[in-house]
Amino acid sequence: MEDTRTLLDLIYILSAITFILGFKLMSRPATARQGNLLSALGMAAAVVATLMFPEVVRYTYILAGLVIGAIIGALLAYRTPMTSMPQMVGLLNGFGGAASLLVAWAEFVARPEQPVYQGVIIWLTVLIGTVTLSGSLVAWAKLEERYIPTKPVLYPGQRIVSILVLAAILVGGIWFATDTAAPEAMHVLGVVTALAFALGILLVIPIGGADMPVVISLLNSYSGIAACASGFIIQNKLLIVAGALVGASGIILTLIMCKAMNRSVANVVLGGFGADTPGKAQNVAGEIKPIKPDEAYFILEAANSVVIVPGYGLAVSQAQHTVRELMEVMEKNGTEVRFAIHPVAGRMPGHMNVLLAEANIPYDALVEMDAINPTMDTVDVCMIIGANDVVNPAALEDRSSPLWGMPIIEAHRARTVIVMKRSMSKGFAGVENPLFFRPNTRMLFGDAKASLQALVSEFKNSN
Ligand code: NDP
Repeated sequence: MEDTRTLLDLIYILSAITFILGFKLMSRPATARQGNLLSALGMAAAVVATLMFPEVVRYTYILAGLVIGAIIGALLAYRTPMTSMPQMVGLLNGFGGAASLLVAWAEFVARPEQPVYQGVIIWLTVLIGTVTLSGSLVAWAKLEERYIPTKPVLYPGQRIVSILVLAAILVGGIWFATDTAAPEAMHVLGVVTALAFALGILLVIPIGGADMPVVISLLNSYSGIAACASGFIIQNKLLIVAGALVGASGIILTLIMCKAMNRSVANVVLGGFGADTPGKAQNVAGEIKPIKPDEAYFILEAANSVVIVPGYGLAVSQAQHTVRELMEVMEKNGTEVRFAIHPVAGRMPGHMNVLLAEANIPYDALVEMDAINPTMDTVDVCMIIGANDVVNPAALEDRSSPLWGMPIIEAHRARTVIVMKRSMSKGFAGVENPLFFRPNTRMLFGDAKASLQALVSEFKNSN
């Protein structure tokens, strides 16, 4: 028996190591797949080890859960398109929160007499797990643009209501934890669960749909903290380690996203961004100069160096394969082609890296914002495909802009700028982009994929 425990503990330690190494590998696109695989293997080993614990006496429910869960998970993963990945992750966070919540409830139902500290941990797990569940469901529905409006839902006294609900949860926590064996304890925990469910909704509903990726990253962190707390309840060391890793990495990712958007976490979490959209009137001078694909071709054909800035519109039009084709024909023409990657281009961190990797665009052609900006003056053509906010010079030049202070890819410094988008619509931040009116900018209007296909044909027909 002791030997089995030691062996299981050893497997847990090895699994924890694979999680940490996995994280390290995932930080670079070239090794991300290996990192994912390594961590998944570690998790599989941990699951098998847990099932070998002497406490596990019946396997029927566990096996049924494994099979049903695996089928649903695999179907969801196969069916979800890349652009819907944030909501998929959101939903999975919610399930994580629900699992921790169930662990806490199960422990309480099995052993109602708990010491105070254990009562506090059960209450905390129920609180965080439930907020994660309901908050994630709202985030998912907002991103799916179904069931509830994506715009921030605001009403007077919103924060007071949330604070009152939180206060009631705290009172319930003290009541519950001081005597978990009291006859009313189950009802109190039930009310705490219901109030925490409401709190999750109240916290996420005032946040706009476009801010949801940041919220999802934060909820991801909550789901880790809930898992960590549930690890303390059932004394499972691996759950504590894995939960802490998810909690910490979720917070770090949230901070990175906020920094790249020049917003504070409080500004995102308190919500309302995008509620009264168009932002302030911008001082835009100059005129729009539309061009046709054949004119754009002549500019590109004569260029020695081209920098492509992909953005959300590239993902919308699913033009990643066509952009690779264009890259190939331009390289054949002797042009140096690089991609400039902004950390929050698109709608989730790493969105552009994943999109371009899907089209087998080599990693070494992708250059980070900080590395490309110093070279921008020497670039012949900067081609912006479905990006808007991440190249908006107002972030550097206009203190009144909502984007002021956000680091951008300094496309405006290139000799010629070609912008591909469908219309003069604004980007996510809802502000005018003065870049479109600059003397060195040409607008190539149309769906990104169609415009790229036209350019590829121009190159091919001229040979
Ligand atoms: P934006 O959302 O600023 O702009 C996208 C542009 O793409 C639009 O102006 C739109 O113009 C164009 N577009 C849409 N569909 C197509 C299409 N089919 N073909 C061609 N163009 C198209 O995107 P960016 O990537 O520049 O910026 C991302 C924004 O999202 C930033 O403000 C960032 O802060 C925010 N954000 C990013 C997160 C992340 O993690 N990446 C998380 C949360 C927010 P038109 O309609 O005229 O075609």
